[in-house]
Amino acid sequence: MPITQTREIAAASRLDNVRYAIRDLVGLADEVTKQGHKVLPLNIGDPNAFDFQTPAHMVEAVYKAMRDGKNGYAPSPGIKEALDAIRGEAARKGITSVQDVFVTNGVSETVDACLTALLNPGDDLLTPCPDYPLYSALLTKLGIKLNTYYLNEEDGWQPELDDIRKKVTPRTRGIVLINPNNPTGSMCTRKMLEQVADLAREHNLIIFADEIYDKLILDDDEHISMAAVAPDLPIVTFGGLSKNYLVPGWRIGWGIVSGDAAVVKQYAEGIQRLLRARLCANHPEQYAIKPALEGPQDHLIEVRKKLRSRRDLTVQWCNSTPRVSCVSPRGAFYAYPRIDIPEGDDVFVKELILQKYVMVVHGSGFGQKPGTKHFRIVFLPDEKTLSSAYAAIGKFMQERYTSLAQISAKFPHSKHR
Ligand code: PLP
Repeated sequence: MPITQTREIAAASRLDNVRYAIRDLVGLADEVTKQGHKVLPLNIGDPNAFDFQTPAHMVEAVYKAMRDGKNGYAPSPGIKEALDAIRGEAARKGITSVQDVFVTNGVSETVDACLTALLNPGDDLLTPCPDYPLYSALLTKLGIKLNTYYLNEEDGWQPELDDIRKKVTPRTRGIVLINPNNPTGSMCTRKMLEQVADLAREHNLIIFADEIYDKLILDDDEHISMAAVAPDLPIVTFGGLSKNYLVPGWRIGWGIVSGDAAVVKQYAEGIQRLLRARLCANHPEQYAIKPALEGPQDHLIEVRKKLRSRRDLTVQWCNSTPRVSCVSPRGAFYAYPRIDIPEGDDVFVKELILQKYVMVVHGSGFGQKPGTKHFRIVFLPDEKTLSSAYAAIGKFMQERYTSLAQISAKFPHSKHR
């Protein structure tokens, strides 16, 4: 008689606090969809889910690679022509002290490799609050205590230098800077980059410069790369095809290690060791890197034009709606409006999906200053969809908070949480 195993397999306890709010909401949306409602998705930063198309010459390059038999494993750091193209891109970004480059399965894997190769138990890494939740999820997985510094909403979401200074500990190894930022859409000024660099110099920190949105600049600003401002410092610049080149499903990202050769050598070798252990990044898709970076950039004109118009619509709605206010985003496709509501922003977001079928992500999924509430909007959908979504959110707030305000007035000690 065969013995069957009946004991439930428990997931490792290190996962207890691993969260990724952006996708954790999908189950709720599925329920609403099953009930026959069309959900308006303002939650996931996937341009290809909307009216944005991958440049045809990139698709051709991958198709050709597949036809030419580039379907086996690639070299672990990446194929040579892609690595050369990334070095060329680094030069265009003004990064002069490049020591190493490598290709990964999306920037997600770059972050994983760079953090895993750096941090020992007891170390910490400064990450922004609010942050793109991959960072906190990964640090939690690695068993590293979170050490977050605030972005200042009153200062256009620039990093708060005093807070960074306060939070540096003897075990702080580095600092993450997301520029342009997810979830706020802010961009760092040159002065801010210089000041963060000074702090990093003073405390021997490595800088992780997540610049995955560096070509999605909405106004006439110039994107300034951290590694161009501080060629002497150990910096890993993260970039990739997902957003700028409209192929998030291809999973192509990269890291550019810059700084003093002797300072970064051992660490860069550590990253390469990890990359060898995972064999390689997607092979045929790597053949799109050179055509993307060196070929026509025409799609960016159209993408920026659409995003600018959708950003303007979003900010206009936010700033003309009671209880909502928003710092105007300058890059990427995210807005992070503040809301003045008498309940948690997680409740707000859940009820909004259930009642009006609009999906946004709650601020508590990214982090925010105590006492403040926000939600993240992805303004990739077209103007018509955005207008419907904003009308629905406005109606929801009016219905819900007019009556909640009345209840609060009647029962002043009750808490709507
Ligand atoms: N970094 C930031 C700031 C992001 O917003 C994202 C995705 O949304 C990533 C990294 C991950 O990008 P990839 O698709 O290259 O893994």
